[in-house]
Amino acid sequence: MNSKEIFKQKANEAGYTQVVDVDLSKLNFEPSLLAMCAQNACGYYGTNWTCPPGSGELEDLKKKILSYKEGVLVQKMYTLEDSFDFEGMMAGSADFNTLFYDMMDYLSGEIGDKFYSLKAGSCDLCEQCTYPDAPCIIPDKARPSIEACGINVSALCDIAGIPYIYGANTVAYDALFLF
Ligand code: SF4
Repeated sequence: MNSKEIFKQKANEAGYTQVVDVDLSKLNFEPSLLAMCAQNACGYYGTNWTCPPGSGELEDLKKKILSYKEGVLVQKMYTLEDSFDFEGMMAGSADFNTLFYDMMDYLSGEIGDKFYSLKAGSCDLCEQCTYPDAPCIIPDKARPSIEACGINVSALCDIAGIPYIYGANTVAYDALFLF
C-alpha cells in the first residue's frame, strides 16, 4: 500500500464520517478569506501561530500544499442536543482534534515525514500560545488552519463531493491530509 492508502485504511477504522480523495488541482487559494480572518469574527486572529498573520504568507502556504500530489479530506459529524448545545460543539471539536493528532502520530510512525496535514480552526495544543513573543513550541504538530491557507472549507467539501453541513442539531469538522 502507498502512503495515502495506509492513511485511508486507518482513517476508515478510526470512525470518520467521510474519508474522500481531493483533487488538489481544483483547490482555490483566496486572499479574500484572509481579509475575512482579519475582521476577527472568531476571536483567534493574531492569537496563535496557526491563524493569520502568524500562519505566514498565503503564497508560501499555497506552495507548500501544492508540493504534495494527493489529498484526502476527512470529516466527522457530531449530533447535538439542540442548536444551542455549545458544550456538545466543544466536545465534538475536542474529539476531532484528538483524532487529528492521533492520525498524525500514526502516520509519523508508518511513513515518517512524507505527509502534511491541515485542519479547520485554530491550534489549541497549548493552554497559552507563545505567539508572538516566542516561536511555536510544538512546530511538528501545529499546522496552519485550512482557512489561513485561503481555502474555503465549504468549497473544499464541494470539490471532494461531500456535505459541508448535515442539517439541524449537527456539527461537522474537517481536516485535509496531503501525501
Ligand atoms: S503548538 Fe502551542 S505554541 Fe504552537 S501554535 Fe499551537 S498553541 Fe501556539
